Amino acid sequence: MRWNRVKAEIAKARVAIEGATSIAIVSHIRPDGDAVGSLLALTIGLRSIAKHATPVLADGVPNRFKFLPGARDVQESLPSTWDLLIAIDCSDLERTGFSMEFMSKEPDINIDHHPTNTRFGSINLIDPQAAASAEILYHLFPELGIAIDIDMATNLLAGLVTDTIGFRTSNVTSGVLDVAARLVERGADLVEVYEQSLNKRTLDAVRYWGCGLSRLEQEDGIVWTSLTIDDRKRVGYPGTDDADLINLLSTIAGSEVTLIFVEQSDQKIKVSWRSRALLNVADLAATFGGGGHDRAAGAIIDGKMEEVQTKVLSATKAALEPVLEL
Ligand code: AMP
Ligand code: MN
Ligand code: MN
Repeated sequence: MRWNRVKAEIAKARVAIEGATSIAIVSHIRPDGDAVGSLLALTIGLRSIAKHATPVLADGVPNRFKFLPGARDVQESLPSTWDLLIAIDCSDLERTGFSMEFMSKEPDINIDHHPTNTRFGSINLIDPQAAASAEILYHLFPELGIAIDIDMATNLLAGLVTDTIGFRTSNVTSGVLDVAARLVERGADLVEVYEQSLNKRTLDAVRYWGCGLSRLEQEDGIVWTSLTIDDRKRVGYPGTDDADLINLLSTIAGSEVTLIFVEQSDQKIKVSWRSRALLNVADLAATFGGGGHDRAAGAIIDGKMEEVQTKVLSATKAALEPVLEL
């Protein structure tokens, strides 16, 4: 089993955790369900073995994930001291939203499933084959002597359900489904987790989709659109993200790569890529200072909407052309 490769790292993590009293845990900015769910499962698990654990998200918990057990405990800044700092679901240090100034040193333990992970921790538990960081935690808990209770199971299942868009991504193996089954066995409510963390939409989110859908374009196997600050103002959408419109667009027949450009400010554009099968978009995102997975990646790029669109579309076309011809 592939966990053997990280056995030595797991042993080191166990010793580090055993020796710590207060543990701070961070995940990434613009947190998704895996970031929140994994963070909370780890917090509850560490508390169950008498550790003083503080969960931290620089951007706080998005409304969608506030139903998760323990969500109210999440802090938006790091505690003043800790014995051990753990980063979960962060491909690099910048993704935590905290600079080195706040951390004073690199996190002690780095748990993640992004192939672009920079191994910034003293101990690195990285499994790029895992469908979610939650899947890594599921296998890690028994090694730490932590039993998975119903609240932890609910959080881990939310991580799995959201990162796989409801078990629809190509990295969903029988092993992933087995983990989900074991979590349901421990009391997690799949229908509720699915409904709350993935299915449920607000009216303004769907109106916001409408803005993006009205500008939808398709060319050479690429489907793309944009969402602007003005769109959000018009429909009253409170976030700065794409309200998961990318997941809808990536279902369009004939699209090999799907892109969304989300205006953050006059000079900053968040770009999301989704690839059906042929193109590794993590590599492409990395050339723009971002990262992610082979088939889902993102980057925040400086520049105005039009110039970022032109640059990113031409790079994406150039990368896609040769693989389409294969
Ligand atoms: P998104 O397009 O934001 O849904 O992100 C898709 C994937 O790319 C997720 O796994 C993110 O963790 C990763 N990702 C998104 N933005 C960035 C970024 N600026 N740097 C590194 N990874 C990113
Ligand atoms: Mn994530
Ligand atoms: Mn993840």
